[in-house]
Order: sequence, then structure tokens, then C-alpha cells
Amino acid sequence: MKPITDIFPILRQPAKVVITMHQKPDADAMGSSLGFAHYLRKLGHTVTVVSPTNWAPWLNWMPGAGNVLNYDKEREKAQAALSEATWLFCLDFNIFHRTKHFEQDLYKAQCLKVLIDHHREPDVDAFDYGISNQAKSSTCEMIFDLIVAAGDEQMLDKEISACLYAGLIADTGSFRFDATTPAVHYMAARLMEQGIRHTEIHSLLFDNFLENRLRFMGHVFSHRLEFFYEYNTALIAIPKYDILKYEIKTGDTEGLVNFPLSVQGIKLAALVIDREEERKWSFRSKDHFDCNTFARTYFNGGGHFNASGGGSKDSLQETVNRFKQALKENEHLLQ
Ligand code: 5GP
Ligand code: MN
Repeated sequence: MKPITDIFPILRQPAKVVITMHQKPDADAMGSSLGFAHYLRKLGHTVTVVSPTNWAPWLNWMPGAGNVLNYDKEREKAQAALSEATWLFCLDFNIFHRTKHFEQDLYKAQCLKVLIDHHREPDVDAFDYGISNQAKSSTCEMIFDLIVAAGDEQMLDKEISACLYAGLIADTGSFRFDATTPAVHYMAARLMEQGIRHTEIHSLLFDNFLENRLRFMGHVFSHRLEFFYEYNTALIAIPKYDILKYEIKTGDTEGLVNFPLSVQGIKLAALVIDREEERKWSFRSKDHFDCNTFARTYFNGGGHFNASGGGSKDSLQETVNRFKQALKENEHLLQ
């Protein structure tokens, strides 16, 4: 994988571009993809943004979200765009299998492939160019850095800024996580100068749910949350029945895994949801517990040091048992 700076001169020639992101995109994946798309269009490129799957409706306010293709539903259109593309940009994921059914098309694509991402252990051999920086708060920050490094800071506008700001606050936990550096605040200031309405963006992301979601959370905290104080760990395990009963949709469970970390002493919070295809795990930690390694070792996943995810084909009960066994094996790391 050659350095991203190598593409700056060639990127000046207008071409056909596809941008994609991880499945079930969050605000960083969608925000970085759309922010980058707006910038590339200003450079004269023809850009198609493809999400491997559907996404939470509270991302639809982002400028350009209405034109994003959902690969699961618009496969032919996405494949046609990819077959004509000179460039493929992969944002906010580190390995093609994070794009679900889009994976094989990405492997086979003949275009130049570029990675821009902040997850651990990227599959660098799959890309021609790229940048992977785990120290970065968000992929949105990396897009901002790219625009500045390419000498195009004056091309920032309100649309680009709104998209990038959304991903920045999502992935920094509204400027509280460790990766919130002075550079992050500098970036936020530059984006605010473009006239974005930061209070409104915050509300669009975090105050944009329906009553059922709050009722669901009440139920979950009363009945599905378990503490293992000997391991400083909390677990939320949600059966399919709850998802159906409370009519929980994509995006409604975002952020749920963080709540148990508000309890004194809790260092690891885990959430598992009994989804159609698999049991989907999320992990969040405080301090020195490595969620990336944990997810990789036990649940075929990965992510960041303090936030990761994974999946299991086992039943909910089996995968919860496996988690409890994993806690025993990690006892020394959880003290
Ligand atoms: P979440 O718990 O919000 O789904 O994911 C937390 C972090 O871990 C995100 O950065 C996400 O991209 C990553 N992640 C989630 N699930 C998986 C997975 O199955 N495999 C890998 N490699 N990363 C994941
Ligand atoms: Mn991200």
C-alpha cells in the first residue's frame, strides 16, 4: 500500500469514483464518505457513494444521503458504478469482509483501491494506496487532514463541514474520548467557521429517536443487564423477542453498550444482540483493557482499543457462555 500523499497529484484529474464504507454505517462512516464525496465533486469527479447495507434513519439529514446506494437493494447500480470507476475509496473499515455482500465485488474490482481508516490491523495488501492511523479520532478527521494536506482547505464548505462534524462528535463521544486531541478541537473550530449549526447536528444524531426506543432501554436496563463485579464487567444480552416486541430498527441500539460504563468500577461493557444472521457483539472499555484483541480472539471481530465489535453463529445462550469463559481467561487484564 503506497502512501496516500501519492494520489494527491493524480486526484486532480476528474474521474469516476466509488466511495464505500462498512456495513450498517454509523455517523463516522457515512459522514466521512459524504464529506469526501462533496470535496471530490468540487474537484470535478463523478462520485457514487455505496453503503453495503441500510443505515439508521437519523443519518438521512446529511447532505447527499438521499443519493447513497444501498448495495443490498440496488446491487446492479452499485456494480455498474464500480465497473466504470477509476478509483475506489474505502472509508472507516479495515478489511473487505466488513462490507458484507459487497465484499467479493470489492476484491474483484479492477480500479485503484484506496484505504482511509483508523481501525487496527488493516488488510494493507488489498489496497494500492492508503492511510491507516489508529491514533486518529475518526475517519472524518482523516478526511479533513487529507483536504488540508492536499492544499484544499479553502474548499471546505458548509455541506462538507456538517458531514465531517457529525462523524467527529460521534467517534469522539462528543469530544470526551482519549483520541480528542488539540487537532480535533482545531478541526471542529474550522468546521464551525463554515457556518454549521453544531447544536442542531447534535440533536439530529442523538435526540432523533421514537418513544419505543426509550421504553426498550428501560426494559433492557431492568431485565437484560448483568454485572460481573469480580471482572469489573457488565453484559447486556438481548433476545430476538425484545427486538420484535419493541420494534427496534437499525440504529436504535447505537450507544446502548456505553451506558454500563457509567457505573463505578466497570471497565468492560459488552452488548450482544440476537440478530437474524448472527449474534452481534459490541465491546467498550475504559483504561487498559484491549477490546480489539478481545473481539478478535473470541468473537471473530475487531475495531479499536476501547471500542470493538464481533459476531458469532452460536445461539445467544452459547455465545454468552463463551463470553463468561472469556472473562475468566481475561481476569488478570480486568483488575
Ligand atoms: P460497534 O460496537 O459500534 O458496532 O463497533 C465498534 C467498533 O468496532 C467500530 O469501529 C466498528 O467498525 C468495529 N467493529 C464492529 N463490529 C466489527 C466486526 O465484526 N469486525 C471488525 N473487524 N470490526 C468491527
Ligand atoms: Mn470511525
